[in-house]
Amino acid sequence: MAVSAVRGMHDLYGDELRQWIAVEVRIKNVLGQFGYNEIRTPVLEKVEVFSHTVGQDTDIVEKQMYTVSDVGDECLVLRPEGTASFVRAVVEHQLLQSSDPGRYFYYLPMFRHERPQKGRLRQFHQFGIELIQDSSPEGDAEIVGLVDHLFREARFDAYEVKINSIGCENCRPSYREKLKSFFKSTLGSLCEQCQKRFERSVLRILDCKNESCKKIVESAPLITGHLCNDCQTHHQNFKKRLGQIGVSFVEDPHIVRGLDYYCRTAFEFVSGVLGAQSAVAAGGRYDGIASRFGAKPFPAVGVAIGMERLMMGLEQKGVLKTLKSGPVYYFAALGDKAFESLYGLADKLKKEGVWVEMNYEKNKSLKSQLKQADRCGARFVLIVGDDEIASGQGLLKEMQSGNQISLHLADLQQDLMRRAIVVP
Ligand code: ATP
Ligand code: MG
Repeated sequence: MAVSAVRGMHDLYGDELRQWIAVEVRIKNVLGQFGYNEIRTPVLEKVEVFSHTVGQDTDIVEKQMYTVSDVGDECLVLRPEGTASFVRAVVEHQLLQSSDPGRYFYYLPMFRHERPQKGRLRQFHQFGIELIQDSSPEGDAEIVGLVDHLFREARFDAYEVKINSIGCENCRPSYREKLKSFFKSTLGSLCEQCQKRFERSVLRILDCKNESCKKIVESAPLITGHLCNDCQTHHQNFKKRLGQIGVSFVEDPHIVRGLDYYCRTAFEFVSGVLGAQSAVAAGGRYDGIASRFGAKPFPAVGVAIGMERLMMGLEQKGVLKTLKSGPVYYFAALGDKAFESLYGLADKLKKEGVWVEMNYEKNKSLKSQLKQADRCGARFVLIVGDDEIASGQGLLKEMQSGNQISLHLADLQQDLMRRAIVVP
């Protein structure tokens, strides 16, 4: 039987995984600097966690969730997104009362049953960042500025920040009515999905990717002219703060977000190097969400970054190959005496934090050891044969340049330690 992974789900290993880890470490460092605490929620949740929050008629709840089993009366699903699980945990553990400031992040796999294509998988990974108990435009700007900064730290700069305000419970209803009367006359020309959206979530028609819907949407009334005073002030201040912290952005009144629970600020980080699935991060304000669990609502703003799309963007920009990591040293021993002395030395260096690779199969030719050193990405190869032992001199070859120098075997450990640190 030929076995393979589930469609739309990938194994990560080798260079690719090393590159992922290099990017993850940079992102986690920035999150630490900004005071965000990690939270890990289970892969499985009760279906209500999403159906009550994400929204019954969203793509996710309608057709993308993996139902795992019905245990007793419980319908369990694989987590399709992180915010609803996060809010469930906040309510359940009363984190609003905890001494932690309300800054959290998660880095978790998500599962959605959608048609796999470039940038769209069935298991994918998100960094989610959430700031709770904060209703200010400064909070919104902090989240957007944080993503902007961590993309730069990950050396990704091929994106545009698109922002919008989608209003609040006071001003959205009248805008919704305006939209409805606008789309009523063109209903027959909208796609099947948008015809369904018309009744229950007319704003989402603005976000439809279907070409004929997009044409109609071009002349739809914009939310911009319909915001109440409070929403307008919030949005102005949000933009002012973005300017203050050096984030460039464009306003796009068609950004509405796919999920039901957003209000006021909505934003996307969109990249021109990703093809059709161009959103690399998306988020916004979701003040009312806790009431969907019957809890007292609290203000919150958050974002989810799609790791696969970020890695694709870095690949496109040629950054990934520079993140390739490998051992500092590959020890090529030729002969028994050389093996005896290098085996112990490799152990000592590893315990000092220097990555050393060595093949324990004795009698391998120099050629095959050099090949292996190249394959594992070693920076230097130390070549020691019985002749070198006799003369007290080993050979150190830098793989990239091909340069070779001889080293005194007497103080080899100190010498190799020094070189491991000095070289970038
Ligand atoms: P899209 O419009 O691409 O379907 P979405 O609105 O469903 O996105 P969100 O739920 O807001 O996406 O998720 C935030 C981010 O997670 C997206 O901007 C994207 O980078 C990533 N993402 C979402 N779905 C997938 C997927 N199936 N495969 C890979 N990444 C994804
Ligand atoms: Mg989607």
